[in-house]
Amino acid sequence: MKNVLVIGSGISGMSCAIHCAQKGMHVTLVSPFPSERSQSVMAAGGINAVLSENQEDDSIDIHIEDTLKGGAYIAGRKAVEGLCTDAGPIVKYLEGIGTVFSIDADGKPKYRAFGGQSRKRTYYCGASTGKQIVTALNMEVRRLEAAGQVERQLGTCFHSALIKDGVCYGALLFRETTGNLDAVYADAVVMATGGQNTIFGKTTGSTQCDGYAEGRLFEQGVVLKNLEFIQYHPTTLETSQKRMLISEAVRGEGGRLFYEENGKRVYFMEDKYGPGGNLQTRDVVSREIYATHKDVYLDISFLDAAVINERLPEVRDLCRKYRGIDITREPIPVAPSVHFFMGGIAVHNDHSTSVSNLYAVGECASIYHGANRLGGNSLLAAVHGGRVAAQAIDKLEAGGAHPSFDEFITKQQEKLAAVKEAQSTFAYANILNMLAHTMQEDLGIVRDEASLRNGLQQIDYYLSVADRIRYDSSVLAYFNYSLPGILTLARGVLTCALNREESRGAHYRSDCPDTDESFAHATLISYDGGRYRTWLDTEGEYES
Ligand SMILES: Cc1cc2nc3c(=O)[nH]c(=O)nc-3n(C[C@H](O)[C@H](O)[C@H](O)COP(=O)(O)OP(=O)(O)OC[C@H]3O[C@@H](n4cnc5c(N)ncnc54)[C@H](O)[C@@H]3O)c2cc1C
Repeated sequence: MKNVLVIGSGISGMSCAIHCAQKGMHVTLVSPFPSERSQSVMAAGGINAVLSENQEDDSIDIHIEDTLKGGAYIAGRKAVEGLCTDAGPIVKYLEGIGTVFSIDADGKPKYRAFGGQSRKRTYYCGASTGKQIVTALNMEVRRLEAAGQVERQLGTCFHSALIKDGVCYGALLFRETTGNLDAVYADAVVMATGGQNTIFGKTTGSTQCDGYAEGRLFEQGVVLKNLEFIQYHPTTLETSQKRMLISEAVRGEGGRLFYEENGKRVYFMEDKYGPGGNLQTRDVVSREIYATHKDVYLDISFLDAAVINERLPEVRDLCRKYRGIDITREPIPVAPSVHFFMGGIAVHNDHSTSVSNLYAVGECASIYHGANRLGGNSLLAAVHGGRVAAQAIDKLEAGGAHPSFDEFITKQQEKLAAVKEAQSTFAYANILNMLAHTMQEDLGIVRDEASLRNGLQQIDYYLSVADRIRYDSSVLAYFNYSLPGILTLARGVLTCALNREESRGAHYRSDCPDTDESFAHATLISYDGGRYRTWLDTEGEYES
């Protein structure tokens, strides 16, 4: 029987695990925390699909075109075609396994408008779409666990891949409970570890998504892609812990952005872009808010309270809970914040990476969103990517012998032991805070060569002290070894941004404000013994 190791148990990891198991493979599904605590549960607004019985004025072709356009035409067309064609069947599948979509009086699932899309096509479950999908997928995984086809391992973190001569044979896993590093061999390894929030500090997402796995794979020779494209969500609410997302659904339901000048409201998005101005793509709205240099508000209070209570209950509750704001009566103070990562592990259309038998799915993989993701397309991509990878893995040969990794494993164990002994004055949390500050300042909504070079210099310093930080027993042991990988990734992100000397999608350079067609390709980046090499994918290496 083929053995598959899936690392990360959010929507993409579970989708892949389920489809591998249903094809008769044995799956080991690992993560530090249960799926119910993955970032996927935070997804609010919905999932995109064209269901022909509902949407007469829409088509899969229009969804494809909106996705390619939203991504500033650097996502591969074939991959996007696969994504959008699969969207209808995915929504039906999710409904079939128990996802409770909001329905209208006739029992048909409801859909709403989302930014950057020419048609309404975002299906939703109130404002807790991710939670509903996670719950439904979790039930499927439990059934497969009961049947012995999936084995879940919690309290387990990725440490390194077991790679030799361009082939992946498994992974070294760190067990939080014992402190052990275990080698787990598999016919295929699937990375499903989500985004890179930690390198930016306070974001809308989960700190479980720290980018370590991507950074570590990068150090091990895996090619990454499009790291410079970081989505700032335009409407988030400041709280002490994190930036709370004010879902695009609020603008989808008619919410209006404004600032005040001389006691009057200025609806700057509508003034510049017309009646649909508030629903421009996220990169455009974020830059426009940034350019106002003013306190910006989002108003939905003109809607009937009953409508708000029915369609936006989670947004109503979070504004009340975290800031005491009653959105049925007053506007919400909003500002852009880091929200999503278009970049990640470079994958081909079947989700294979630059290393054989190593796959990546969900937000840690870079494939469908180009330079900017459309809201509602990443839940779709997480489910779809898991299915596509499972199909590809199904075609692999099973059961080959693996070479010896004894030397490598001993070396990693020694390094881990040394981390515990470190006596330095540098603390993990301080370096992470400084990193977040650097990334927010130097790789913000607007960046330029000087800011990017400054960021690189800062990170070189953090890297120079990262492997001798003071051991901190008050946090997860994993944190104590993950810093160098996280910093290596952050350096890669800045390097990609420095090399893209144009503005496109979410990447805006004030020193190169125009879009330059010679850059109309994805950025690829590799790491070789301390050297970062970037190139444009002009040959479509990752488009097939
Ligand atoms: C507030 C918010 C709202 C959103 N709303 C929407 C929406 O309405 N529609 C939409 O399409 N998208 C939305 N998104 C984006 C979407 O939720 C994510 O892109 C998607 O859920 C990612 O799924 P995933 O499986 O790739 O990753 P995740 O759900 O992040 O799961 C990652 C998994 O990997 C594990 N992991 C991480 N690091 C390691 C490691 N080192 N070792 C082992 N395991 C590890 C984690 O514990 C977790 O189990 C939203 C995002 C946020 C933050």
